[in-house]
Amino acid sequence: MTVRIGVIGTGAIGKEHMYRVKNRLSKAEITAVTDVNHDAAEKALEELEMKAKIFPDEQSLIEAEEVDAVFITSWGEAHEEAVLKAVAAGKYVFCEKPLAVTAQGCRTIMQKEMKYGKRLIQVGFMRQFDHGYEQLKQALDTKQIGEPLLVKAAHRAPEVDDSYTTDMAITDTLIHEINILHWLLADNYVSAQIFYPKKNKHALPHLRDPQVIQLETESGVLIQAEVSVNIQYGYDIQCEIVGEEGILSLPEPETTVMRYKGKQSMNLLSDWKTRFQDAYDKEIQAFINQVDNHEPAQGPSAWEGYVAAVTSDACLKAQESGQREPIELDSMPDFYRDEAKAAKA
Ligand code: NAP
Repeated sequence: MTVRIGVIGTGAIGKEHMYRVKNRLSKAEITAVTDVNHDAAEKALEELEMKAKIFPDEQSLIEAEEVDAVFITSWGEAHEEAVLKAVAAGKYVFCEKPLAVTAQGCRTIMQKEMKYGKRLIQVGFMRQFDHGYEQLKQALDTKQIGEPLLVKAAHRAPEVDDSYTTDMAITDTLIHEINILHWLLADNYVSAQIFYPKKNKHALPHLRDPQVIQLETESGVLIQAEVSVNIQYGYDIQCEIVGEEGILSLPEPETTVMRYKGKQSMNLLSDWKTRFQDAYDKEIQAFINQVDNHEPAQGPSAWEGYVAAVTSDACLKAQESGQREPIELDSMPDFYRDEAKAAKA
């Protein structure tokens, strides 16, 4: 079967995913789109040389007969309502992060999905599909370095525009580390604290950059994650895990090493789209395959969306207070525990 996808939000990432469905992935087509700005939807189809029906709003798109599954790639504030509508209609839904902008919103979504009785939601935490992180996960799960003790991570971008604010270092940038480290360590966070080192001279006056976020987990792992968004030299993701008997490092993306005129050099990447292209392809193909097979969704779950929301709220509080802020999660519903086990088996 060809999975028929409706896209809500035809902005930057919406178009990226539409492009990959058309040009790089299999077993799916984009049959429907909607955007609050109708012209943007029309323009996206034109740019991508695609034919799909433009719907006036998300409700009519979700209910449409020609839509088997929905991509939610609209503005973060709009995700919760669209996810709830999709689950109510029994449609599979791939939702870009954040699942909802509040922890309560994520709880409401989980309740709706549990009531439906089958996982329909996959959240767009694509790093879980990155080959390097998959290797780290495999090594950690098989205790190749003993128990993890410390994590040093960095999320660095060359520059940001003036719409990027200090809180976005958490909600837009660190959110990926929050999810991937929780997944890698399989350990809940218990506290967050933020440190502001000397400011980068390239950062705009309103922005505190860089930031160092310290997270502690239930078992006592200490995480130090650097977010630098004016680092000039390139887009660079680092992760080093110190264990009892060894160290794991996230592999560098593949690149040619050049020896020339007395120097050895290699290129660095400059943007997230290139760095995680394979991971985005794999997350969306996995979603398509699950819809095609009518299997419960298995990628990052609504529970993971909830964990990210609670942790991100604590980090925002810590940005303001300068103190170590507690992170308190509800207990994980069996529904998500069982689904997680089933996905691993
Ligand atoms: P964007 O370029 O602003 O695109 C969002 C689009 O959705 C815009 O066209 C916007 O219209 C439209 N929109 C807003 N509310 C809507 C609604 N209720 N119904 C239909 N359309 C709506 O933003 P983006 O960069 O693509 O980001 C979209 C989401 O993806 C964000 O949540 C972001 O955090 C996430 N994202 C994730 C990654 C990742 O690595 N996983 C990367 C990038 C973005 P207007 O412009 O008229 O408001």
